[in-house]
Amino acid sequence: MKYCRFLFENQTHYGAVEDREGEPWIMRLIEAPEEDRSFRLEHHRSTSISLGFESMPLSAADLLPPVTPSKIVCVGRNYRDHVKEMGSELPAEPLLFFKPVSALNKPGGVVRMPAVSARVDYEGELAVVMGRRTRNLKEEAWRSAVRGYTLANDVTARDLQNKDGQWTRAKGFDTFCPIGPVVSDELDPEAGLILETRVNGELRQHGSTLDFIFPISKLLAYITAAMTLEAGDLVLTGTPAGVGPLKAGDSVEISIPGLGVLANTFQPEQS
Ligand code: MG
Repeated sequence: MKYCRFLFENQTHYGAVEDREGEPWIMRLIEAPEEDRSFRLEHHRSTSISLGFESMPLSAADLLPPVTPSKIVCVGRNYRDHVKEMGSELPAEPLLFFKPVSALNKPGGVVRMPAVSARVDYEGELAVVMGRRTRNLKEEAWRSAVRGYTLANDVTARDLQNKDGQWTRAKGFDTFCPIGPVVSDELDPEAGLILETRVNGELRQHGSTLDFIFPISKLLAYITAAMTLEAGDLVLTGTPAGVGPLKAGDSVEISIPGLGVLANTFQPEQS
């Protein structure tokens, strides 16, 4: 199934998303998925009934990030063509880093370009949503640990990434991790998903998950050999070739068929 998280009548709700004549619609309210540990289920039940929610187009909803992770684990250099464009060596093992949960941003949200950076890049990515607490996952059991998939923009202050020598600040500014609009388990990265990124409507990234250096099975085994992943945690699987800088006012759209479009605009931070 496919779900989103959104504000309705000033309350947070989850909704089941289905296609209606080619457009995604929120068809009904659903109980919070297991991966949202903080959601107050009883409150949700009572308000759902009293609201009398009617279906609405996803595009008309006040969307929130669809999951509330305890951590966001990211993989650098996981598409062969992106490694080539960055002039890097093919990694022998996955390269991991974190984005803080304070960087989360919603579909349609504004990404604030920090004054301390002269170059902010988009990175369109497929994100894995964990479905349960997972430690020491065996590669062959990886699907049992996954709730579904969503889209992410691993926004990066490229100049600071190079200058700092490690990536925490460059990847970690507030608003630097838009995710959404939906979580879906109705697709299979191993069958090849086409990820595209557009800037102001112009195609900049076009990659296939078949170009992964490390498949999701290997990434999850590698990550959970080091740390416990909780239900709702995100694993960003890397970006294909075509990354590049943005300017104030740019709009970035990331898409994978079945996951919809994650659209965000970029603006200078307010002083
Ligand atoms: Mg990335």
